[in-house]
Amino acid sequence: MSELRHTPVVPLEAGIGPDNPPCPACGEPLFGWIDDRPGLAGPVSRCESCGLGAVGEPGTAVEALRELDRVGDGQAVAIANRGGFSAWIGGAGWAALEPGSHYLFTIEAVRRLVANRDQVVKSARWSPGAGIATMWQTILNGFTFGRNVALGRLGRAVAVPAEMPWQRRLDAAISVVVAIPALLAAVPLELIAAAFRRGSTVSLRFELL
Ligand SMILES: [Zn+2]
Repeated sequence: MSELRHTPVVPLEAGIGPDNPPCPACGEPLFGWIDDRPGLAGPVSRCESCGLGAVGEPGTAVEALRELDRVGDGQAVAIANRGGFSAWIGGAGWAALEPGSHYLFTIEAVRRLVANRDQVVKSARWSPGAGIATMWQTILNGFTFGRNVALGRLGRAVAVPAEMPWQRRLDAAISVVVAIPALLAAVPLELIAAAFRRGSTVSLRFELL
């Protein structure tokens, strides 16, 4: 009997339970990241292994792949990078956390997901324009009651307006006043992020094995 006793090793999977469902991309348990808030389908959880974020029910790899193909074309996709600096700085104010978002991808999560259909990520390139815009709006979200007010106005994101009319008026004014200072901060921050491969938006290309 005694020779069968080993030092117990608890795999991370052992943490899977009702509160920690498995990650659709890698199977490790998901942990709470952001509580339920207006404009989102539910609380946001994240995988501490591959970095995938899930809004509401995490679902399956099939659903995550379907979402990936909805934003991309099956061969290439541009993702808002949940592993990027802007997601880390912004948390609940991260500009890519839009109404209707279900999955928040990272390069590693995409690599794991497309492996299910024998694809590999051939290249991952930072998208400067979209990346700076995401960083910029993430900074602006720190000043406003609502979220994504400026990019929403520009038709580049789905805004979550503040509840009260006076808050919405103030948000519009704040977005104008803070726009340039926020841009002056966003450009160097996003450049540093990209240098550390932590850019806000990344274009990925897939290839069949
Ligand atoms: Zn994962």
